[in-house]
Amino acid sequence: MTETTTASRETLGFQTEVKQLLHLMIHSLYSNREIFLRELISNASDACDKLRFEALHNDALYENASDLNIRVSFDKEARTLTIADSGIGMNRDEVIANLGTIAKSGTREFFTKLSGDQQKDAHLIGQFGVGFYSAFIVADKVSVLTRRAGEKADQGVRWESDGGGEFSIEMVDRAARGTEITLHLREGQDDLLAGYKLREIIKKYSNHIVQPILMQKEEWKDGKYETLAEDETVNQASALWARSKNEITEEQYKEFYKHVGHDFDDPLAWTHARVEGKQEYTQLLYIPGCAPFDMYDRQARHGIKLYVRRVFIMDDAEQLMPQYMRFVRGVVDSADLPLNVSREILQESKDIEAIRKGCTGKVLGLLADLAENDKEKYTRFWSEFGQVLKEGVGEDFANKDKIAALLRFATTKADTNEETVSLKDYVSRMKDGQEKIYYVTADSFNAAKNSPHLEVFRKKGIEVLLLSARVDEWVVSNLPEFEGKQLVSVAKGGLDLGALEDAAEKQEQEKQADEFKGLTDKIKTSLADKVKEVRITHRLTDSPACLVADEHDMSGNLARLLKASGQKAPISQPILEINPTHPVVLRLKGEEQRFDDWAAVLFDQALLAEGGQLDDPAGFVKRVNQLMLEMGA
Ligand code: ADP
Repeated sequence: MTETTTASRETLGFQTEVKQLLHLMIHSLYSNREIFLRELISNASDACDKLRFEALHNDALYENASDLNIRVSFDKEARTLTIADSGIGMNRDEVIANLGTIAKSGTREFFTKLSGDQQKDAHLIGQFGVGFYSAFIVADKVSVLTRRAGEKADQGVRWESDGGGEFSIEMVDRAARGTEITLHLREGQDDLLAGYKLREIIKKYSNHIVQPILMQKEEWKDGKYETLAEDETVNQASALWARSKNEITEEQYKEFYKHVGHDFDDPLAWTHARVEGKQEYTQLLYIPGCAPFDMYDRQARHGIKLYVRRVFIMDDAEQLMPQYMRFVRGVVDSADLPLNVSREILQESKDIEAIRKGCTGKVLGLLADLAENDKEKYTRFWSEFGQVLKEGVGEDFANKDKIAALLRFATTKADTNEETVSLKDYVSRMKDGQEKIYYVTADSFNAAKNSPHLEVFRKKGIEVLLLSARVDEWVVSNLPEFEGKQLVSVAKGGLDLGALEDAAEKQEQEKQADEFKGLTDKIKTSLADKVKEVRITHRLTDSPACLVADEHDMSGNLARLLKASGQKAPISQPILEINPTHPVVLRLKGEEQRFDDWAAVLFDQALLAEGGQLDDPAGFVKRVNQLMLEMGA
């Protein structure tokens, strides 16, 4: 794979995923080609931020030139475009790692999701982030010349590639620190070789960049532009978050988001505020429009950027946001923290705790506002990030009520899992006499919706929440009540419908319990250790039997979830409840010969109906066949 052409020049192959990304990008992002400049300038800006931060501890890195800027230039004859920065630069190993591989976990899985449909894939790529490789949308050859700040002049590196399968790398002399990226434009891209065009793109996408973006001045003379020796700054070059809200346009907020969020799409919403008081800081926090591909990876990068008095301190300052808000992107700029603050200090810091509290409150406020005033946006938010927000019910005790108010669940009144209601709405439409919030948990929407435990609720027209996300078991175990109304599983404990049942119904149940005592005892003896208890139920109208968990035992669904994820679940037997009006149960009363088989089938089908797995599926099939034959006989 490695082929040496000169003393130090090597040709290396790209990581497979890079090849796929390059191919896709060139073909699917073509109609959006201008974004390459935004991406390269965004990287250049990050590189300047990094140098400024490292130089806080080591002034020598400036090499006596503390100017941090980004320069964009073009050469009409050579048909090249160059983006240069005076930032941190890269050494040889960094170049190979950064521009030859993709260092994001889950990359391989991501690529298996691509469909070949260009529009869909373009959208997915947006979630993935395009970055440096977007240069190949407009260029058929890219050269990178770079030297890490603080290294000797002979430690420069040249990287070159035509965007095919490989790149070359060699050591060169380079006096200036930082990175210079030269794009050799593809046929048909010559309109980019014009100052006004580049200025237009920079103003549109990169106006918010903090460092000055310099271009050579031009003058209109004798019917054409003439380039002058002087430079001028093309962008606004000030920290966007430090400006007052009324000076910032919607477009500017959105473009800034794409830079800090490394996102391709617009954000869904944002909140921008300057907080004064004991802690003084500015926050500009965004809710992305789409979940990133690695949202469930708790190690994923790109969260909140921390600044101290406009100086970039660190990316992904995870201490500034609770885990359950890991989808939030943006900037926090503190006026009080010391510049030499480290991740270790952040973990301990009381100041940071106060900032996190403030930021969390702001985001919850923003979400409550969307939920109230922009239902369509909130629905989008919920479908992208709802499952993550739910973690907060157990994680953030202080805000539990606020989070609970933001939750949305499907119910028995919904046709799809996407039709959801808030707990408040659920409570407001509870039936007369209903005192509790009822829910059922299962491993899919359909399993929940068709759960036999719902039969009596359906008959009485009582709405039940259908919980089918993994995290829902965690939610309900941490949320015993909402606004004074107890949350109760329909598959746990004895069913007490309170005032929803009349005296006659209750009397009837007691009578039946007596009447069936002989049968329930006999089934219990037959099933022995498989069940804790066998009793008559009034939960069922159509099914012969169902399983319920004892009041304080773990639900069957949760036990299965734990088992599936390799964790130990305490073994607790379920209670078998039988329907005294069902013909199968009635028949069982008179059964002698095959009683054990009937009892076993009754148990197994109750287990199947709630999504459980049979211990002995072949035995079940055999018994059912046997009983069918006998019935036919
Ligand atoms: P991302 O910016 O999302 O990490 P990119 O593919 O754009 O992904 O860049 C990969 C890495 O290459 C960056 O994280 C950075 O470390 C490095 N890099 C890119 N451009 C520059 C630059 N101009 N100066 C220094 N490092 C850079």
